[in-house]
Amino acid sequence: MFHYLCLIMGEFELIAQIQQLAQGLPTNGFEGIGDDCAVLEIGGGEALVFTADALCEGVHFLREAISARALGDKALAVNLSDVASMGVRPVAVLLSLSLPEGLSAGWVEELMEGFTALAHRYDVALIGGDTTRSHSGVVLNITAIGRGKTSHLKRRNAAREGDIVLVSDRLGASSAGLRDVLQGNPHTQLAHIHHHPIAEISAGQWLGARAEVHAMMDLSDGVASDLKHILKASAVGAEVEMCDIPVAEGATLHDALTGGEDYKLLLTVDQAMREQLMRDFEATFHRPLYPIGHITAAKELVWLEKGVPTTQDLVGFRHF
Ligand code: ADP
Ligand code: MG
Repeated sequence: MFHYLCLIMGEFELIAQIQQLAQGLPTNGFEGIGDDCAVLEIGGGEALVFTADALCEGVHFLREAISARALGDKALAVNLSDVASMGVRPVAVLLSLSLPEGLSAGWVEELMEGFTALAHRYDVALIGGDTTRSHSGVVLNITAIGRGKTSHLKRRNAAREGDIVLVSDRLGASSAGLRDVLQGNPHTQLAHIHHHPIAEISAGQWLGARAEVHAMMDLSDGVASDLKHILKASAVGAEVEMCDIPVAEGATLHDALTGGEDYKLLLTVDQAMREQLMRDFEATFHRPLYPIGHITAAKELVWLEKGVPTTQDLVGFRHF
């Protein structure tokens, strides 16, 4: 299928191989591959973070199903999501466009309208990029840069035994919306959510400032797959209750667990501070955080159904 372009190996195996092949290169002071962003401490208790994400026609979107404006908004939102999931503020982006012949000037104008509207909302500068011809559809590649206090940085490797695992919103709407798009209904409310993900840009920074938040990442591949990254990086396990997964209206539990592109936050929080954090979050954002489980010492992810372990193997969403 168009967005499950299967190559010889999966995305994560391929990244691991690239990392292996690049072994021996200098780090030059950067904390590199493995988190939502790379980190560079710049002194004065501050750090810059860096991330890149591409949206490719036929893999991530169908040009006839998404407006240029929505595409500009989405390409930026998914990058700012990775910055905010580190707990810091996005400050600048580089925008690289590969465009096929025959695109109208109006299309690019619309794309930039969507892009700049979101950039204005979060005071993000466009500082460069690249523009090339493409022989295989539109490709948008954005590199985003964030800046913040090193003490606010939230990494995937900071989950501790006993932490509560939470998500920042209901899940699965984007995946349900993708289903509508693929069935030829690109104008449903769920398809709108799929095309206009609302990344947790303010909530990520707010959670970054809370010391009781330990590990954090954004949900791009589904909680069933993404939680494993936190567990692996932190060398811990988790028990998660399926009945506590908050499912978005119109989505199924399967969408919520394994669907991609929700761009909500997955975090672990000191158990003793959980109630206070949830109260403060709700008072600030007028919506709840959702506890779904807890971190364990055993290095495995156990899914519970009403407290009983299930053997169901849940696999997340892959673009590849
Ligand atoms: P995310 O979903 O948060 O964007 P990914 O799953 O795409 O993260 O990537 C996981 C990690 O691998 C990130 O640290 C990312 O920067 C890194 N990565 C992905 N592709 C490459 C690549 N081709 N070369 C180097 N690092 C990569
Ligand atoms: Mg991410």
